[in-house]
Amino acid sequence: MTLVIAAPQLISAPVEGGGDFPVRRIYCVGRNYADHAREMGADPTREAPFFFSKPRDALAGAGAIPYPQATIDLHHEVELVLALGAGGADLTPEAAQACIWGAAVGIDLTRRDLQAEAKSKGRPWDTAKGFDASAPMGLIRKGPAPQAGPITLSVNGETRQSGDLSDMIWSCAEILSHLSALFELAPGDLVFTGTPAGVGPLHPGDRAEARAGDLPGLQITITPRA
Ligand code: MN
Repeated sequence: MTLVIAAPQLISAPVEGGGDFPVRRIYCVGRNYADHAREMGADPTREAPFFFSKPRDALAGAGAIPYPQATIDLHHEVELVLALGAGGADLTPEAAQACIWGAAVGIDLTRRDLQAEAKSKGRPWDTAKGFDASAPMGLIRKGPAPQAGPITLSVNGETRQSGDLSDMIWSCAEILSHLSALFELAPGDLVFTGTPAGVGPLHPGDRAEARAGDLPGLQITITPRA
């Protein structure tokens, strides 16, 4: 094989204690906490989980995140992230549960103004969700994902989002089972599992700290656009 341009960069996420988790795809779940569904004007009680995705090179780590272009309303959404070590299609929740290699806390950064426009015009969410550095994530901890415990995000030391992982409408196993009915899941896939209420804006200079259960925390700082 002779590559005619340079190969795209391998994208990986660091693992607690050492090593790197190679990333294949990044999936995200919409509205998976009732209080957030309500704050976005939706009915949380009757909706099956729905999905969108981010490009894998939207992944970012802790530290500086440049304020993205094309928005004046960048929002934070703290989320539990699943890292898959196995996959498959049409998985039962039990089989899907066994695909989880580890878990981390992440922030589904969102250009809320572009999302509102997309919603109002019936357009895709890609521009609202899939921009560069829109998926910062903390260290992955190997092992089962926490099913209860606080999920929080603070901005400059002030708590903005405060929920509990046990308040997820669809459990991790159920999310993966539903997702596997749409896409064949594979090792290296990451799944952002939705955010609790309290989403809000981030501005240049803001420092956000995200936590989910006792997983390694994530700190980011929004820097001015270059
Ligand atoms: Mn989200």
